[in-house]
Amino acid sequence: MLEECEICGQSTGKLYTCTGCGKRFCHYCGSVAEKLCLECIGASEDSHPAEGAKPSKKRKKE
Ligand SMILES: [Zn+2]
Ligand SMILES: [Zn+2]
Repeated sequence: MLEECEICGQSTGKLYTCTGCGKRFCHYCGSVAEKLCLECIGASEDSHPAEGAKPSKKRKKE
């Protein structure tokens, strides 16, 4: 049983969980590398330019 993307509503296969809002999104609807959906990518550009938008920042990975 395939989950539906919470952004586009389609079942395209693999979904990712947005670290910003916790929604499940497909690879069409956000950045898989940053684990952010389109909504949070757009929001971060406006209110939090330093948060998540720049992948160049070094972060500790678990
Ligand atoms: Zn989608
Ligand atoms: Zn999100």
